[in-house]
Amino acid sequence: MKLNQEQLRIKGLRAYFSLKKTVDLSSISKEAVLKLFDALILPVVSYGSQVWLPYTNILSNICQKKTQSDKDTLSQLANDSIERLHLSLLKWTTGVNKRTSNIPIWGDTGRYPLGIQLSKLFLDFHNRLVLLDRKNSPQIVRHAFVEQRNLELTWFRTSRALTDAFDPGAIKRTIVSKNVPMPNSQLVRSRMRNWFQEKWEKARLENKKLTFYNEVKSSFGLEPYLSLPNHKKTRCTTWLRTSSHKLNIETGRYGWKNSSIFYRACHFCCSSDRITIDLLNELPFSDIIKEDEVHLLKECPVYKEIRQRNSTDLHNILTNSQFSKLFHEDYILETRNFVYNLFRERFPKSKL
Ligand SMILES: [Zn+2]
Repeated sequence: MKLNQEQLRIKGLRAYFSLKKTVDLSSISKEAVLKLFDALILPVVSYGSQVWLPYTNILSNICQKKTQSDKDTLSQLANDSIERLHLSLLKWTTGVNKRTSNIPIWGDTGRYPLGIQLSKLFLDFHNRLVLLDRKNSPQIVRHAFVEQRNLELTWFRTSRALTDAFDPGAIKRTIVSKNVPMPNSQLVRSRMRNWFQEKWEKARLENKKLTFYNEVKSSFGLEPYLSLPNHKKTRCTTWLRTSSHKLNIETGRYGWKNSSIFYRACHFCCSSDRITIDLLNELPFSDIIKEDEVHLLKECPVYKEIRQRNSTDLHNILTNSQFSKLFHEDYILETRNFVYNLFRERFPKSKL
């Protein structure tokens, strides 16, 4: 089953690249790209999902009721072949690198793991088989279903566990008749979405790397900036929100650079001498200015001229540190331009 899912992932990749050859995906809004994905690629990768979905990490995770952290649960379900493809496409679409945390990518696109989307197909198929069984249908597929049920094989066990977890009412409804319960597939999918959203919420709040994201993100769902065209501006906005940029706070976080605060400091506002910065950092109450998102947006004097071009509204939002407001529908057009200009000034030689 794993091999089958991997083959579908590869087919999905092929479908994506042939779509990319036909349509200039960078010229349309990210929301439109996601719609194309659902219409043209999802049918390819979900082929036969009624049979293989119970063997994915996401369903086995729900069904085995594992006691593990929300972060570990999300990492496991991101490891399913189909979800790896989904996340790759979401990251390519939003213009971030593959190392970017999955949490803000699911959150900003408002996309649930594909395993949840496909659970309805699986349960509808299950319910059709239950009906065939009740009618004593001579079809081979009904005999396969009876075998699954009698031997309590994985496929059947998963459908039962899903029902148990998300539509226990279906079990109560069938106790008297001793029939196999037929879960309400729409209800199960909607409750699975809530289950995922709860895990997502907790995992993002616990993620220390997502400090700025947690400040600007209020609830799970498609962000207005992804409905606007202009790939470069959207990409810069995603970089800022998800901390997948090259500001020193990020580049100085890993490997050998992690040994000194110098690599996370703003070199325009602090000394450019590493030894001085390291010595200063050892003093009590020292507060080395780090080059992070807030510093870029409202503090660093290097970008004073760019900030002066902002409207009074945007100026007030920044002064009052109401960062989440920057990304509201009313201000997003101006914010996108502002963020794009900041990155262009900060990284003049790189291709934005
Ligand atoms: Zn600075």
